[in-house]
This record gives sequence, structure tokens and C-alpha cells, in this order.
Amino acid sequence: MAEYNKPIPIPQPESDRYWEGTRREELWLRKCNDCDEAYFYPRDICPKCFSRNTDWIHASGNGSLYTFAIVHRPPHPGFVSDAPYITAIVELEEGPRVPANIVGVEPEPENLSIDMPLKVVYEKITDEITLPKFTPA
Ligand SMILES: [Zn+2]
Repeated sequence: MAEYNKPIPIPQPESDRYWEGTRREELWLRKCNDCDEAYFYPRDICPKCFSRNTDWIHASGNGSLYTFAIVHRPPHPGFVSDAPYITAIVELEEGPRVPANIVGVEPEPENLSIDMPLKVVYEKITDEITLPKFTPA
């Protein structure tokens, strides 16, 4: 793909399945079999109880807006043409809170409310990386 000038996530072995999932437009999370906690970002050891007895689960892609900011002065030159844009923490229905952009809505505070329902959408940015983003459900 031509000229993607933003920082790009660098997959790690522990997150390969996550990025394979987003390429298929699926959201995958890790879940602990000992304490039943789903968590993000993907890693082999549960961050709550430190168990290695963890698995991947296919998340629904549904969540709600936990908090947000409207960015007018991007922290990186690659995002200048996007501003203003919405960064957020989305609380997935499986429990984990994930950082993401909110798209499909004008970046004005009156269009956003805490706890509003959201659903995942995907943006392919390179052959390797497809980013999950969220839009009003
Ligand atoms: Zn655990």
C-alpha cells in the first residue's frame, strides 16, 4: 500500500494471532482459564493472577465508550491530516478496555457520550496490519 506515514504497530510473537485475526476482521482476546478474566493486550501470562493457563477467545466486537479525547494537535506528523480525530478507551463486552479510534462520527463532543454502544470496524493500513476501530452501534 502506498505511503502510510503513521507509526505502525510491530507484531510480537505473543500478538501474532491477534493481528492474524484483525486481518480476517475478527477481534481476538486472551482469557485466563484460572481466574476467568479476559484481558488486553495479548500476552501469555494472565495480568491478574499470573497464570499461564490462558487461551484465545473470539470477541464479539461489541463494547461501549469508557472515555475519549478529541485530538486537535496530533502527537505525530503522520496524524496531522486526520485532525481533529477521536481517541478513546473502549470497554469491550468481554471486559477488557482497549485503546482505539472512534470513526464514523464527526469529532464533536455532542456526538459522544460515555457508555454509548460501539461496534468494531476494521481499517487495513498495510498488508500486515489491519487496525480495529470503533463506530456507534
Ligand atoms: Zn488469571
